[in-house]
Amino acid sequence: MGQGLSCGASYEHALFTAVQHGDIEFVNDLLEKDSSLLHQTTVYDRHSALHISAANGQIEILEILLNRSVNPDAVNRYKQTPLMLAAMHGKIYCVKRLLEAGANILMFDSLNGRTCLHYAAYYGHADCVQAILSAAQSSPIAVSWGYARFVNIRDGRGATPLHLAARQRRPECVHILLDSGALVCASTGGYGCPGSTPLHLAARGGSIDCIRELLAWGADRLHRDVSGRIPYAVALKHKHGACAALLNPASAEPLVWPSPLKFISELNQEAKALLENALMEANKEREKNILKGTAYSLPSPSHSDVGADDNISEASDTELCCICFEQVCTIEVQDCGHQMCAQCTLALCCHNKPNPTTACLTPPVCPFCRSTIAHLVVVKIENQEDADRDIGDISSPKLRKARKSRNFSEGSSSFKGLSTSFSKMGGRGSGRIAAENEWIDKR
Ligand SMILES: [Zn+2]
Ligand SMILES: [Zn+2]
Repeated sequence: MGQGLSCGASYEHALFTAVQHGDIEFVNDLLEKDSSLLHQTTVYDRHSALHISAANGQIEILEILLNRSVNPDAVNRYKQTPLMLAAMHGKIYCVKRLLEAGANILMFDSLNGRTCLHYAAYYGHADCVQAILSAAQSSPIAVSWGYARFVNIRDGRGATPLHLAARQRRPECVHILLDSGALVCASTGGYGCPGSTPLHLAARGGSIDCIRELLAWGADRLHRDVSGRIPYAVALKHKHGACAALLNPASAEPLVWPSPLKFISELNQEAKALLENALMEANKEREKNILKGTAYSLPSPSHSDVGADDNISEASDTELCCICFEQVCTIEVQDCGHQMCAQCTLALCCHNKPNPTTACLTPPVCPFCRSTIAHLVVVKIENQEDADRDIGDISSPKLRKARKSRNFSEGSSSFKGLSTSFSKMGGRGSGRIAAENEWIDKR
């Protein structure tokens, strides 16, 4: 570095400033004059022009540099790659372009031994997490290494991307990682309190949304870290009262996503989104009940601003669910073709809590005809707009008198009673009539 400091350093400085500010013409000029500038780095941090363009989201300049075939995996003083910096700063276009250029997703920095996936998860850039995971599915390195192993990759202190996302209050990233096979029960080595699970770290961070996600994926409220604390104790210690209430082993169990079921793992995106939404809404209802008597309350549901009148639906051709008579049928059981709403489908699948010793669920059967469920698909509804608005809505606590009216919009107060009505229905042949009578009897 010593030689040529005089003019070299000033050119260098000019280049890096121009890259940072996206001055394309000037960058092109400089590179025309002296192409060796491509390999220059800043004096202390040893950032290359590619690092600077990636960190600042200067996609055009990043493109120019990659087209001049600079190494996409150049590292700075801390062994950080341009991809790590783009993921850290949430520069999604740069992340995608670097991945396209074949940037290595399996590089580790020298600060904490973290990968680009750790960076994206830690800083909460869900789009970057998603892009990196997509690349991991096709990248030859990750293929040889194994996708599941990559999702659960550890940093220098034993933290997976899920641990970091949970600690940093990043529910969206937590969701994507769990959905991609992150282990909900993994313990850290030295990160946080040793032996912490993602649930301990979410309790430490105090994010109710992260806790809800983790619990819905079966996180264990009774798991102890090496100092013997359960997540509940961690939340109490850090004065996250609402989190503590949900983590209290004495409070009601949330519904757990029935991932071991074969037809759940085979759901298409649309059906999955419907059911996931139903699960989250149901668990939010439970949370409200848990927090009711406490000093903590949750923000009111996002859809409360929809006026009741708007919901008197003209989409009368759609079928009401014959189990709850409140929601529109959105899910069809195959092969028999019987239909239910997403909430009832979910209650059916989550009815049997997974048995931790055998790690298997008793597969549910169609409540109408008792045949084995092979697939679940989304019912095609003609007036999709009305249906879209209605399907997520199960939150109204009010009981509705005119149960048979065509107003699909109101909440399913009956949801909590579903599992009991299911078991009562057991063995009946003609589900439709049976369910209806059962329902009226119960009122
Ligand atoms: Zn229903
Ligand atoms: Zn059936």
